Parts: sequence; C-alpha cells; structure tokens
Amino acid sequence: MIVVMEAGATEEQIQSVIDRLVALDFSVHRSTGVVHTVLGGVGPEAAVDPVDFKVLDGVKDCFPIMSPYKLASRHFKPGGTVVDFGKVQIGGNAVVVMAGPCSVESEAQIQASAEAVVRAGARFIRGGAFKPRSSPYSFQGLGEPGLKLLRKAADAHQLLVVSEVMDQTQISVMEDYVDLLQVGARNMQNFNLLRELGRSRRPVLLKRGISATIEELLLSAEYILSGGNYNLILCERGIRTFESYTRNTMDISAIPVVKKLSHLPIVADPSHGTGRRDQVIPMARAAVAAGADGLIVEVHPDPDRARSDGAQSLYPEQFAELMRQLALIAQAVARTV
Ligand code: PEP
Ligand code: MN
Repeated sequence: MIVVMEAGATEEQIQSVIDRLVALDFSVHRSTGVVHTVLGGVGPEAAVDPVDFKVLDGVKDCFPIMSPYKLASRHFKPGGTVVDFGKVQIGGNAVVVMAGPCSVESEAQIQASAEAVVRAGARFIRGGAFKPRSSPYSFQGLGEPGLKLLRKAADAHQLLVVSEVMDQTQISVMEDYVDLLQVGARNMQNFNLLRELGRSRRPVLLKRGISATIEELLLSAEYILSGGNYNLILCERGIRTFESYTRNTMDISAIPVVKKLSHLPIVADPSHGTGRRDQVIPMARAAVAAGADGLIVEVHPDPDRARSDGAQSLYPEQFAELMRQLALIAQAVARTV
C-alpha cells in the first residue's frame, strides 16, 4: 500500500497515518521526496480499503501496489534513489564508472590497476577477494589479505572500493574494507545473505542472476530493502540464452525496463555480459546510451596473465579510450561522466 502525503503535510499528520498503518499490521517504510513524503506499507493490503486512507488529513493519494515487489517499485520513490558515497553519488546525473581486475592477485597488480583506472576517470576500483568460481580447482581469491591490498591501492588513488561478498559470515570483515558490497549473479537468490545485507547500512550492488527475470531481480532487491537498507544499486550483467558466441547475452533492454519499474539505480557490467574483450566497449557505450547510472568494467594491467577473466579484461589503454567515448555519449543523453 502506498500513501502519498500532501506537499505541506505536517509531521503530526504523517505520524498519524503511520500509526494507523501499524495498527493494521503493516510495516511502514518512509521515503522523503523533494515534494512529497511517501509511506510504503507492507502488510495485509487486500484487507484494507484505500479510501479509508484517502480521506485522512494530509493525505494526497492512496493505492495498492500491484507488483509483487513493493519497496523496489518506482511508486515508492517516484523521483528515483541516489546512493551517496560522500564524494560520489550513484543514481544522480553523473554516470559512475567502477573498474579494475576480476580478482585481486598481488600488491603490484592491484596498485597498477588503481593507477590506470583513476587516470582514465574511474571513481571506484573493483577486484574480487572472495571469488565464486565454477570449478573448485580455479583460483578462489586471496581472501582478507586481498581486501587489505585493495583498500590500500584505493586509498593511495582516492578511489572507492567495490568487492564481492559471498556469504553472510563475510559481511563484517568486508565492511572494514569495502564501500560497496557486491552480490554476485550466483548469489542473487541467496536469501539468507540478502536478509543479512538488509540489516547492514553499507551500500549493496545486487547483480542479476544468470537466469533471473527482471521481476526476480526486483524481488531479491525487496529482501534488502525490507530489512531497512535502502542503499541499493542493481546491476545488469548478462543472462544465459541459447547464444554461445558471447559468454552471456547482455540484456541492454533491462536498463530502461528497470528504470520504469523501479526507483533503484542500475549499472551495467559489459565484461561478464559478453565475456569477450572486443565486445565490452560497444556494450558499455550502449548501456550508457540506454540510461545506465554507471558501469562496472574489468581492466587488468596484464590481461594475458590474469588469474581470472583475462579474455574479457580490457587493456588499460582500451579503458582510457572507452572513457573518452563515454564522455561524448553521456553528453548526448544529458548526463556527465
Ligand atoms: C565478478 O564481478 O567478477 C563476477 C563474478 O561477476 P558475476 O557475479 O556477475 O558473474
Ligand atoms: Mn570476473
């Protein structure tokens, strides 16, 4: 149930609507927009007549939310969500680029990566320390020592850090090093992890599952939002289809669809979306043209010797060229990079 308050609604009027929703067994999530306060009630919607709320003082409108996800719905926050990192915001006018290797491998590798990506204009460094690999015999990441190296490289280059959390036992250690906690595609429906991230206040980057529909992605987002963590960003990273030329099929259309259905920012990962270095740049350009709020791109100082995902990692000079192109595309769609 959505209750939209009048522009001039008083705190008392808002509180009295909240009390009424709570008395009816709703849990209430409040979103303060530029003009209107919106109250999102999650509870026994079918048992309540919206007219009972429409007639209350200070209420502009009230309607049920038809979609199975509620707090992720655009109705809850029509103006869109901006996730604030202090010096960087995701979901605002600027397209924010996160870049770096698939995995943190060594101090020299991550320092060289940080230097290359910051020089080209990235605001975050990426790099996995806990790696979800299809084979148990593949490189599994450096663990906490990798996170330390990542943080050190980021701090030396004024970058923020995004890195993957694989299960709930890793959240507290990750919070010591990471600004944005990435939930990988394989974990999009790890509901225990999602619930625990709902209790954290650290921003979360939720990647679309390999075979997940957009509705399933938004329902996974709902787990985190319903726990009270509204610092959430979605990521389109390609889905599995019958096409085998590319590693996945980059679903660019998911970007405007998510923008229409949800208030959450969405970024695109053209690296996992294609799995091929030669296709990363065109898909990155397309994602920004389609309205993505950011990109996460794999860049390695020596991709041919990378311990994971070398074939889809850009050379530093390719990344610098991509950033030059993105500045032009962003301008064409009234954004900045
Ligand atoms: C990654 O970012 O390196 C990664 C494993 O991504 P995904 O979960 O999208 O496969
Ligand atoms: Mn990777």
